[in-house]
Amino acid sequence: MGLGVEAGLSDTIVTTRLDEAVNWSRSYSLWPMVFGTACCGIEFMSVAAAKYDISRFGAEVVRFSPRQADLLIVAGTISYKQAPILKKIYDQMCEPKWVISMGACACSGGFYDNYTTLQGIDELIPVDEYVSGCPPRPEAVLDAIMNIQKKAQNDSILVDRVKKYKGILDA
Ligand code: SF4
Repeated sequence: MGLGVEAGLSDTIVTTRLDEAVNWSRSYSLWPMVFGTACCGIEFMSVAAAKYDISRFGAEVVRFSPRQADLLIVAGTISYKQAPILKKIYDQMCEPKWVISMGACACSGGFYDNYTTLQGIDELIPVDEYVSGCPPRPEAVLDAIMNIQKKAQNDSILVDRVKKYKGILDA
């Protein structure tokens, strides 16, 4: 029995760093919120459906509340009228959070070079991954999600905290 307990412990206990455990769980449980305004929003459905299967990356729990999401996917044309809504949604998401700009319209306004259209969401919010295409292929969106996973794996809870409190002190 004693031998069994020893063998059991050595088989089941894993040592790691807190950052690595948290980053591993964050990167494989991204909860996306899709701000879909046009055809790229339809293309995202293909990313999420069975053929491309976003759940292989642990990112299938699409949220409709920004407070429950940590990955904002902006998919479509953003007009100046919609810009304050997008900014508000981004601001309502808790840290840590990431942004994918999906498609030519979200990245640069696309071919809507006119007075109604925001010429890229990075005029408004920080973007982690730009996905080119009109619309992008589902594989390209999955590639962006994998890049976000890599970013999440390099975060540090301690550094985040220091930055946060430094920001509070500097304010
Ligand atoms: S990039 Fe192309 S497919 Fe995507 S929203 Fe703009 S026009 Fe539609």
